[in-house]
Amino acid sequence: MTVPQRYRMRVPSTGREVIREAVPDIVYVDRESGEELEVMGKVLPLAPSTSRLPWAVENLRFCPWCDQLAQKDLNDCPHCGRRMSPVDRHPDRHPDRHPDRQ
Ligand SMILES: [Zn+2]
Repeated sequence: MTVPQRYRMRVPSTGREVIREAVPDIVYVDRESGEELEVMGKVLPLAPSTSRLPWAVENLRFCPWCDQLAQKDLNDCPHCGRRMSPVDRHPDRHPDRHPDRQ
């Protein structure tokens, strides 16, 4: 079974971006405006993956064990394989704006 690849697409008139599963060579149309969507790029992680979230800062968190980034919808860290605690509800403990912290 093939897992659909997800793409970032843009509505030309508004610049609004949407993420949806798509198959190459098929034209997709925005539901609201009826406009043809411009394909901006593939969304990481590439299919197949156990995560449904795009690889973006707002969807990532730090593994409490190895401190590597992992998608928030994963229960087990993809780096060290250990079970991660529930999603941190106090993001200030891991500020995204300090990428050079050690
Ligand atoms: Zn880990």
